[in-house]
Amino acid sequence: MKKRILTGDRPTGPLHLGHFVGSLQNRVLLQEEYDTFIIIADVQALTTNFDRPERLAEDVRQVALDNLAAGLDPGKASIFIQSLVPQIAELTVFFSMFVTVSRLRHNPTIKTEAGAYGYTDMTYGFLGYPVSQAADILFCRADLVPVGEDQLPHIEMTRFVARRFNELYAGVFPEPEAMVSRVPRLVGLDGQAKMSKSLGNCIYLSDEPSRVAEKVMNAVTDPARIHKTDPGHPEICTICSYHDAFNQAEHGNTVEMCRAGSIGCVACKKRLLQVLEGFLEPMRERRAMYSKPGLLDEILETGTERARREGEATMEKVRSAMGMDYFGGAR
Ligand code: ATP
Ligand code: MG
Repeated sequence: MKKRILTGDRPTGPLHLGHFVGSLQNRVLLQEEYDTFIIIADVQALTTNFDRPERLAEDVRQVALDNLAAGLDPGKASIFIQSLVPQIAELTVFFSMFVTVSRLRHNPTIKTEAGAYGYTDMTYGFLGYPVSQAADILFCRADLVPVGEDQLPHIEMTRFVARRFNELYAGVFPEPEAMVSRVPRLVGLDGQAKMSKSLGNCIYLSDEPSRVAEKVMNAVTDPARIHKTDPGHPEICTICSYHDAFNQAEHGNTVEMCRAGSIGCVACKKRLLQVLEGFLEPMRERRAMYSKPGLLDEILETGTERARREGEATMEKVRSAMGMDYFGGAR
């Protein structure tokens, strides 16, 4: 039997090149080897976006299309919508009975994120989202969870929840393991911070070719280079870091030419653009294919239906472990 993976995204806007190098690219490879569940975590999006639910429907579609465009195959991966799997919400409630508030308050990612969002107080839902995330992973009894390093405290929480449940009631849950992506964060077009949609420094996977070209050609390079023959400082150049991330084969050579002043920034950007278009164009084709009327809905409905079946199988074990199968298991 194949091992199972659970991973996914919060639908808070379109995915960008940072998501591609940080997670999507790897996800596409993993689906060949693992039984893959991709969660579109719309309830978790509400932890920070509860005041703008009207954007969710479009964001759910776009994030699903971003995954399909990147190469996720609905025949291999089940893509599902979190809010349509009620068993995840049920598990969250049961788990929340034995997770203490102080454990959540000490979670380093919660602290960092609360600081970044400027929260002076936290909602119950935000403070508790690691419990909900444990339910996202455990409802389908996933073995492995591909994540960025920032998510490690949440995987620890998930392992704690599984262990504690098993001790308290009965051995229902495997302890899932994190598969950490150690790819360095892709820098944004501003060269100042990581590429992040809230900073507006992104190239989106759904950007039109003209938009990608405009963004690349306007990106700031080494400010000390006025003439093409001035020796460059590739270590401080955003375009150079993109060559590193997307054009490994030519990266060493590009760095050398930049230092020697034998390639100008315009030529260097044009080459990067060719490389980016080499994978963005096939993505646009797949996006168009999956945008055919009805197809995306059908993929999401099929994936969600499968997730619900897995969730219900888990809930039967949970109810029985807790002695809550009052009518002999059938409801
Ligand atoms: P927001 O601005 O809403 O925080 P974002 O664009 O920063 O959005 P997140 O939703 O915070 O994206 O990121 C989710 C995951 O995507 C991260 O845990 C990480 O694995 C990956 N990721 C996001 N941005 C980058 C990046 N610049 N480089 C590499 N990976 C990234
Ligand atoms: Mg972020």
